[in-house]
Formats: sequence, C-alpha cells, structure tokens
Amino acid sequence: MSEILVLVDHVDGAVRKPTLELLTLARRLGEPSAVFIGDASQGAETLAKHGAEKIYVVDDAEIKPYLVAPKAEVLQQLVEKTSAAAVLIPSSAEGKEIAGRLAIKINSGVITDAVDITADGDTPVATQSVFAGNFTVTGKVTKGTPIITVKPNSAAPEEVGAAGTQEQVSVTISDAAKSAKVIKAEPRKATGRPELTEAAIVVSGGRGTGGDFAPVEGFADSLGAAVGASRAAVDSGWMPHAFQVGQTGKTVSPQLYVAAGISGAIQHRAGMQTSKTIVAINKDEEAPLFELVDFGVVGDLHQVLPAATEAVTARKG
Ligand code: FAD
Repeated sequence: MSEILVLVDHVDGAVRKPTLELLTLARRLGEPSAVFIGDASQGAETLAKHGAEKIYVVDDAEIKPYLVAPKAEVLQQLVEKTSAAAVLIPSSAEGKEIAGRLAIKINSGVITDAVDITADGDTPVATQSVFAGNFTVTGKVTKGTPIITVKPNSAAPEEVGAAGTQEQVSVTISDAAKSAKVIKAEPRKATGRPELTEAAIVVSGGRGTGGDFAPVEGFADSLGAAVGASRAAVDSGWMPHAFQVGQTGKTVSPQLYVAAGISGAIQHRAGMQTSKTIVAINKDEEAPLFELVDFGVVGDLHQVLPAATEAVTARKG
C-alpha cells in the first residue's frame, strides 16, 4: 500500500486536532505516516491511535529557531526517501507556505484549502469550496507527488489504532533555509476557549453588537465555542484582529457557525461559508446572510443570545 505523509501540527509536542483529521483522510488513500518535527514523546500515542502506521521523527534542535523553510526541506527529503504517494498538510498559514515551498522543491502540483479528499484509484481527489463558497471544485494534482492542504474540521477524526512505529530521521538543512530566524515568540493570552480555526462551534459578533460582545461570549461559553468577529467589529476596536473571520481574517469551517449582528458581506462569507450548519441572528429580515443560513432568527441579538444561553445552560442541568 502506498505511503501517505501527514505533516503533524503540534504545540510544544501536543498534537492539534487538524492533524488527526488528516490521518483519517490519509487512510482513504493509503498508509498514513506522520511526520513529526520536534519531540514526539507526548504525541506519538495519539498519532498511532488515529491511524499513523509510521511516525517519522525529526527532532533536530537546528530546525526550531527557524521559520518554515527547514520544514519544507524535511518533507522534501522524506518524499524522496519514502516515494510517498501524497503529502497532506494542515491548511494553516504556515502549512500553506510549507506546501508551496515543497511543491517547488519536488516539482509537484499543490491544492490548498481542500474540504474533503477521496481516492480515484491511486490518485487523491480534493474538494475545494471557492469564490466565497459559491462553487465546489474537485481537482487532482497531475504532476509529481500530490501535495494537499486541508482545512480544519474537514473530517471527524477516527480512532482506528495503528502501529505507530517510530523512526528517527536525520535531515540536512541548507544554509538558505536558515536565512529567516524566529527572534521572539510570545504565546497569546489563554482565553480558555478553543482555537478559532479548530473549534467545532464558533459564535461570531458583528457591528450589530454595538460593541457589547458579552452576549456573544456568554453564548459561546455555554456551548464551549470559540468567539469570532466581523471586520466591522474588529475595525471598531471591539475585538482584536486575531478574532476576525473572513477574506482578510481567518477561515473557519466548524460544525456550527452562529453569526450575530453580521450582515453577510461576501468578504465575511469567504471565511465561514463551508461551515456545516449556519445560524444567523439579525434584526433585519432582509440581511443577506439569511440567504445562506440553515436557521435564521429575526430579532435583537441582545435578547436572543441571552435567552439562548439560558436555554442551553438549563439543558445542561
Ligand atoms: P454590517 O454590514 O454593518 O452589518 C451589521 C448587521 O447587524 C446588520 O445586518 C444589522 O441589521 C444587524 N444588526 C444591527 N443591530 C442588531 C441587533 N441589535 N441585533 C441583531 N442584528 C443587528 N469583513 C469581514 O467580516 N471579514 C473580512 O475578512 C473582511 N475582509 C474584507 C476585505 C476587503 C478587501 C473589503 C473591501 C472588505 C472586507 N470586509 C470583511 C468587510 C465587509 O465588506 C463588511 O463591511 C463587513 O463584513 C461588515 O461587518 P458586519 O456584518 O458586522 O457589519
């Protein structure tokens, strides 16, 4: 069976959920092999549990201080070593940069932001949602080893139990790949909420909040959701840019997206349109977002959200 390389996204050794989704998708194509750059002692078991037959560990202190270029070189060397049939990478900003660099190095095609992958014989077929979600495109890489980046929440991670055989790999990193270095990294203040791009539920607020995000945050917390914002809310200084969903913010694809006081401009839709279920709360029944939603509530978010929060909290008992 052909080997499918999956680049592991982790935070200080703890594997992030999008990687587990990639392992599940990789099993449709062949035998998943995880590529762990860093200390895999904490994450190896999780990777094996979710289907990694092999785990290539590149624990090289030389790589950590640098930006993405060395990671692309690691993958290049592993593709050459394993003759992998495909490489799957999480669709983060970093993941997409690695994918592009790798494609140049191994002379392959790359598909970014896939929301699903199926197999056509030996060839991966990627589904993308494009033009703000107005079109669904299926595509194949026709040159070289296919490289596909996949958006978070594109598959439910399955626990299958695999061998997870670890192999330490040493790689050679070129001087050119070390030309940009991380000089300082400050972790974002912990909010206790899930990361926006990974969350299964996102509750976002827009200009309609009038700057009062308490109802949005209260409802998000009752559901264990992440909080997002429209650009209007960010530009007004009500929320930091890290919370912005849309064309110039983050792309989210949760199971449930709740938009409160957001009109539904195309640039906002671009960041949330692939959400599985979309709910809008807006006091204007003509708001464009209502064209897209699965459920719509015409009403004032300052009344609807606290009532919804109370109902969710009551159900939890
Ligand atoms: P508005 O369009 O002003 O809508 C507010 C809504 O709240 C209205 O529908 C109103 O009926 C409703 N409302 C008001 N009060 C209440 C209430 N009490 N209860 C319920 N509903 C209420 N936007 C993004 O979001 N993300 C992006 O990444 C992004 N990138 C952009 C990039 C470019 C190049 C450009 C040109 C624009 C971009 N925008 C982006 C901006 C986008 O075009 C819209 O201006 C923005 O999304 C509007 O935000 P909003 O829906 O919160 O505000």
